[in-house]
Amino acid sequence: MKIKCPKCKEDADLAMDYSVVKCGSCDLDMSYGEYVKFVAHNESKYSDILGDYASSTEGHTSGSLDEWD
Ligand SMILES: [Zn+2]
Repeated sequence: MKIKCPKCKEDADLAMDYSVVKCGSCDLDMSYGEYVKFVAHNESKYSDILGDYASSTEGHTSGSLDEWD
């Protein structure tokens, strides 16, 4: 079935048994497990940006408490 290629955003082909993902537009050729990790990794890079923003206020308290003497 057709899925979106995580590399070039063109149509990639997922085998019916979910064993392999191949893209004809780029050299993508990986197992479905690797594909899921690849997509999750790309999405986590995006959410890291939001995470850094949130932790910039939260992280403030965690280190400073230890410095009280
Ligand atoms: Zn591709």
